Amino acid sequence: MTTLEQETIRPTESEGQPILELNNIGKSYGNVNALRGVNIAVRQGEVTCVLGDNGAGKSTLIKVISGLHDYTEGSLRVDGSEVRFGSPRAAQATGIATVYQDLALAPLMSVWRNFFLANELHKGPFLNIRTMKRVCGEELAKMGIIIPDLDCPVGSLSGGQRQCIAIARAIYFGARVIILDEPTAALGVRQSGVVLKYIVKARDAGLGVIFITHNPHHAYLVGNHFVVLKLGRVVLDAHRDELTLQQLTTEMAGGDELEELSHELSGIDPGKVVQGHQVDHGEIGAPDLGVGSFDGLAREPRFNG
Ligand code: ADP
Repeated sequence: MTTLEQETIRPTESEGQPILELNNIGKSYGNVNALRGVNIAVRQGEVTCVLGDNGAGKSTLIKVISGLHDYTEGSLRVDGSEVRFGSPRAAQATGIATVYQDLALAPLMSVWRNFFLANELHKGPFLNIRTMKRVCGEELAKMGIIIPDLDCPVGSLSGGQRQCIAIARAIYFGARVIILDEPTAALGVRQSGVVLKYIVKARDAGLGVIFITHNPHHAYLVGNHFVVLKLGRVVLDAHRDELTLQQLTTEMAGGDELEELSHELSGIDPGKVVQGHQVDHGEIGAPDLGVGSFDGLAREPRFNG
């Protein structure tokens, strides 16, 4: 039996030309600069993790890459050629697929119907149900997903299985780059594990995977390359061998700001802050802020910005 750890910590970085390259990409909404000077290279057989807090620009980045929004600065290249997608269809035509958090699956429809949604196979004027079921079963099995009854509604499956079906579908319909929008955000530990294994399989199948997440632990389990966004800028860009999980976690937890906060909190009498129930001024006790826990997150060297 292989553990997730054994399956995932196997970097497969490929050298050579990136499939997708963002050069100095900027995106403004009126006065709001959602992205500024973003450089990212996505290579085949690599998982590129994009991390960032709320407002960092992750959704905007997905929209720009998937052709939903145009960028306002810089250039986007696919296989070395500059592209400007006018629509998500144009991005899909170059092999860029996005699996959004809502998955675009119809919960009441069967697994095989969802797999072929909007791409149904026909035999004459009729749906070719037999072939669609067979192909769906084969494709899911290739990626290690066994669903005993392909006629069951997708809504009855677990969140992890639904994610996997959406990813398998994108791969089957020709994706070379797959963007996963926080695929583990709503899942428990076990289900997240299912999806993370599947991300590794997509990578090993030769795709360039862009894994958008808040969770440095999930990212570090499967990532080859890590990009942290903050207020629309890249503040860290590192390969796995240049970065520890601790450094990535610290960067995500707030980096410099966290250290500043730690200093500020250390100046406060812990008797009044940490153990609120001991405050004896007749006030309602302050919550436990866990000051001590910040000590373990002392700032490590940063790589960029
Ligand atoms: P994230 O997904 O990391 O939370 P977003 O990409 O949603 O970040 O947002 C980045 C910044 O861009 C935020 O300041 C947000 O308010 C702004 N923004 C995003 N979309 C729009 C929009 N359609 N119009 C104006 N501002 C936007």
